[in-house]
Amino acid sequence: SKDDMGGGAVTVYDPKYGEIAPQSLRMEADLKHAIENDKLHIHYQPQFNLENDVLVGFEALVRWNHPAEGPVSPGEFIPLAEETGLIHSLGRWVLRQVCQQIHSWEQAGISVVPVAVNVSSLQMKKNNFVHILEECLNEFQITAQLIELEITESAVMDRLEKSMELLSAIRGLGVKLAIDDFGTGYSSLSYLKSFPFSKLKIDRSFVMDLENDENDAAIITAIISMAKSLGLKTIAEGVETELQKQFLIKHGCDEVQGFLMSRPLPVEAIETNYLSSK
Ligand code: C2E
Ligand code: MG
Ligand code: MG
Ligand code: MG
Repeated sequence: SKDDMGGGAVTVYDPKYGEIAPQSLRMEADLKHAIENDKLHIHYQPQFNLENDVLVGFEALVRWNHPAEGPVSPGEFIPLAEETGLIHSLGRWVLRQVCQQIHSWEQAGISVVPVAVNVSSLQMKKNNFVHILEECLNEFQITAQLIELEITESAVMDRLEKSMELLSAIRGLGVKLAIDDFGTGYSSLSYLKSFPFSKLKIDRSFVMDLENDENDAAIITAIISMAKSLGLKTIAEGVETELQKQFLIKHGCDEVQGFLMSRPLPVEAIETNYLSSK
């Protein structure tokens, strides 16, 4: 019933789906509506060089402010989008939005830095992905070097041969590739080296506990030194304390991203705080 507010069994009335529709069906319909009517938006989180604190890029993170529920976390609606197939239109929307934003910064004479866009493994599995990417770059006349795609290990390791083909095609366009959430999967770094990645993002879960957990600290130093010897750049995500930052500097990590430096911010705040005219 409508009064049942507990757990996953919440049902509500929805004229589209009949008398009573499960909450997830309503959320699916609402998400579809949000994608189709430009109701999503993007926050940008700055990334910095650890040696000199210079801004080196942004990560684009999609946001959904549900009209009734308020902000819904991507941790909730990205899986929903993946389960329902909406991830394809959502992913395309994000990519276009970022390209449009870079275009408008360039038009305004603002110095831009590369923007990293998260790509779901399901998006990559669709055979029109490279085409969509190319279309976006062309439509907004974006220098390919200004776009970086963040891909998780499992997206690559699940289907090695296809991945190699696809990632090579993406690299061929000039778009950069980063491995997201590194260390949480099962792949070996030397294996991944055969793929055209240029950057490796050390997962937040290792950074979070590095002050208290010797194992996490050891894993981070191992990742950094292996990445270095393989010619991959490293960026640590989720850096929240000065101690974490100092540890990363000491062990030669290249870049950082985290609440210590800045939360993901709406575009206006990014422009005010981080961008300036050429
Ligand atoms: P991710 O790609 O690993 O993104 C990093 C997440 O860590 C973001 O969460 C960011 O807000 C958060 N974060 C950054 N610095 C800190 C920190 O210092 N402390 C803490 N506690 N968190 C920090 P967010 O925005 O909630 O996104 C969660 C995940 O949702 C992302 O993880 C990514 O996998 C996915 N996602 C977000 N936007 C998109 C998108 O446009 N497309 C796709 N396919 N996935 C997306
Ligand atoms: Mg990411
Ligand atoms: Mg990540
Ligand atoms: Mg993550």
